Formats: sequence, structure tokens, C-alpha cells
Amino acid sequence: MSEVLWNVRLLDLDRGGAATERQAVTIDDGVVSAIGGADGPAPAGARDLGGATLLPGLIDAHCHVLSETDRSPGFGPRPLLHGELPRPAALGHYILAASGALILRSGFTTVRDVGSFDDEASALKLAVDLGVVPGPRILTCGRIVSATAPGGVIFGTMYREADGPWEMRKAVREQLRRGADYIKFMATGARSVVAEDPEPAQMTLEEMTAIVDEAHRMGKRVAAHAEGLAGTRWAIEAGADTIEHGLALHRDPALLDTMAERGTVLVPTLTTFHDLAERFASDFAPPLVEQAKRQLEDALKTVVAARAAGVTLALGYDSGPPGASANELLRLAEAGLSPIDALRTATVGAAAALGRDDLGRIAVGGPADLVAVDGRPDDDLGLLLRQASIIDVWRSGAAVN
Ligand SMILES: [Zn+2]
Repeated sequence: MSEVLWNVRLLDLDRGGAATERQAVTIDDGVVSAIGGADGPAPAGARDLGGATLLPGLIDAHCHVLSETDRSPGFGPRPLLHGELPRPAALGHYILAASGALILRSGFTTVRDVGSFDDEASALKLAVDLGVVPGPRILTCGRIVSATAPGGVIFGTMYREADGPWEMRKAVREQLRRGADYIKFMATGARSVVAEDPEPAQMTLEEMTAIVDEAHRMGKRVAAHAEGLAGTRWAIEAGADTIEHGLALHRDPALLDTMAERGTVLVPTLTTFHDLAERFASDFAPPLVEQAKRQLEDALKTVVAARAAGVTLALGYDSGPPGASANELLRLAEAGLSPIDALRTATVGAAAALGRDDLGRIAVGGPADLVAVDGRPDDDLGLLLRQASIIDVWRSGAAVN
């Protein structure tokens, strides 16, 4: 079935960000089959978008698909009150379905889930892929491979703890058995766990190398949670494809040069430092809040240094509520990115993080993942946070509205 989107302002984020007015995009079987001029009135059957800006579907490269809604004010069921019956676990599936719909409607057609409880991300992915519920394309890591560490107590089923290179290999194989699209590991501790120091490497270089070798040999990419410099250095040395957070990198410019040379992508997740330092400060242990304030300063410096070094940046929101990932665009703009460069992190940059060069661009032969916006998001990123400005979203050619 063929659909023509008539009179769109096409934003090319692949090459510099030039906009071309009065374009027509044809979709066939979920794929962009033609791009051409749209002069004159819309032909019969075409959808006239009246000059709206057409962007590639946005990508969030660091998302947690969760039925738990603690960090998602305004979304999900109100907290249970004393005296009310406990809620069944199955309620979580409705919350996941609602998240998927919100993410998609917000213009994010792909998310890379970087860790969920009880394999919830895999369940939502399956439901979306089977057409049971609307939602974004989801890439999952299965469970996060971590050394035995305090975070394992807090994050439970989100983690697969392992120690020693051979057990790391087994942990990776288990995630592949689970259907993981890529592997994530904890190169350092987490800033959200009081008992963990995010500064030192939490695994040995030998363990990280085993994880990356096992994943790469099987054709899977690897994401490394990396906060302190020592663990970040080893993760890069071991060959991780993306560095998540990576806030300490400004302290070692040579490492940033290595990332730029190898095409290692940085996912700076500025929002998460902001949230821990400010938005959700009252929910966290005070030492973590103080630490997050310092980390935010570091993360901002790293964004500047990484850009100067030519490192590819990918948007990762790492916060809630679902459907608000565009907030990270504003954070990146505050860190000095132009709106076009910020949009590039959510399209071509995030596509590079995922190893999916077919995504994040509008090209003949590529998936028809598209967002039509009323106005010019390349002048005003805030439009992407206003649902009323998003005219429609297409995921593999299927329109949401
Ligand atoms: Zn995260």
C-alpha cells in the first residue's frame, strides 16, 4: 500500500541540516520508496501536510523500559495507599503498553533499552513487534552484566552478576539466549547506589575484554556504563561500542581522540545528572545528590570536549516520564549544541550508537520512521516537547494518528 506525504519541509540531518521546502515523500510497505518535489496541489489520495517539517523518527539510545513509575511524575497509577490491596504484577503490562504508546506519539520511533526489571523491555518489544500494542522499535540488552556488587542488591533482576572472564562470557551468552540485541555491562559502579563508588573500575580489564570479545564474535554490539575514568578507559580499551554517561572523559582528551578514531559513541545522559541533583533530589540519599551536582559539571565539560574531539554523540534521556525524551535535546542545547546538532544526536548519532545506519535518516530504501512537526524544530527544539506540535508519527510506515 502506497502513501504520499505531500508538501513537507524535509530536514536533512544526515548532511549538515539543510531544509528543503515543498517535498513529497512516498511510503511503500513501510519503506520510503521515493522523495521528490511537491509543486502544485496535492494529488488525489496524497496527505497534504501543509509545509510541516518532516524529520527522521527520533531515537533514544539510553532508555529504561519500566512498569515502575517512581521517576515518572504525572504518569502511571497513583501510589498505593496504606490499607489498599496490593496490586497484581499484571498491572505492570498495562503501564508498559501505555509507555510504549507515549514514547511513539512523542516522535521517538526507536529506543535502546539499557536495562529493565524482569525482562519487561523484552516483553514490550514482543508485544510491539507482534502488533498487539503501538510502540517504538525496541532494542534490548537482556540483563546488564555486572560484577558482584552492591548494585545487584538494589537492581535485582535488572542485573546478571558474574565474576571472572569465563563467567562473563557465560553471562553474555545467557543474554543472547534471552534474545538480547546487544550487551550492556557495568564498567564502573553506579551513581545511584550509596554503597558503590563510581570512580574505580568495577571489573578487571580481562573481564571487560571477555565480554566484548564474546559479544563481538557473535555480531553484537556492546554498551558500557562508565562513570569514573579508570573504568571508562578500560571499557574503551576493551572495545566497547558506546560509552554510557562517560562524564569523566574531559579529564583525558587522548581517550576522546581514541573514541573519535574508532567511532566509539558517547551517550552523555545529561538529564539523569540533573534529575539526581535537582528534580528528584528529595528521593535520594544526600551524598548521592552532592555527587550528582559534581557529576553534572563534569558531564557538561565532557560534552564540550567530546565535540571538540569529533566524538559522535547520541541522545539518551535515562529518565521519565515516558514520552519526554526530547528534554535531553534541550539539555544538550544548554551544553552548547545548536538545535541541528542536538537533533543529530537523536537521529544519525543515536543510529550510530545502535549500529543501525538505516535509522535516523530519511532515505529511499530506508524504513519510513518519520515525524511531522508543525513549525521548525531546528529553530525551536521545545516544539518536540509539545504534543500539539507533533502532527503525526510513522513507524515503519504506519501512522500513529
Ligand atoms: Zn540508565
